[in-house]
Amino acid sequence: MEKLGEWGEYFPKDVCPFAFNETIAMEYFPITKEEALRRGYKWREEEDEPLDVKKIIAASQLPETVAETPDDVLNWAVKSALTGRPFRITKQELQFYRDHALPIPRLHPEERHTNRLKRRPPRHLWKRACSACGKEIESTFAPERKERVLCENCYLQEVY
Ligand SMILES: [Zn+2]
Repeated sequence: MEKLGEWGEYFPKDVCPFAFNETIAMEYFPITKEEALRRGYKWREEEDEPLDVKKIIAASQLPETVAETPDDVLNWAVKSALTGRPFRITKQELQFYRDHALPIPRLHPEERHTNRLKRRPPRHLWKRACSACGKEIESTFAPERKERVLCENCYLQEVY
């Protein structure tokens, strides 16, 4: 390894068992397939496995409330309202929705994940004033945003 200049270096890309587009890196540093391959990363085209279900229904056919949803939904696939990509509901998931009186999701789990990512604050820190004491702090919330952002001391005083 010393002769090859590998000693002390991070693992080479070719030993990584994952494709670039399967990792969290793709969420924070998205690149195209061509760019990934050019940089020497693996790329894997995602293909959904065929679902072993009784029937596939459109998301629009789901009942409005989880109370109206039969347990048989566990044997169905639901086509995403956005892309038509089918997905299943697990028993634990259905129980969670029942416990919290939440409707069955209309979007594929990966689409929901993508939507959550879009709501994350940007990976940038701005200098702004603490909303309580005015002390300068750094935050992922830009100064012009309306949210109340506190310094650590003010936060701790307010929470405890
Ligand atoms: Zn403060």
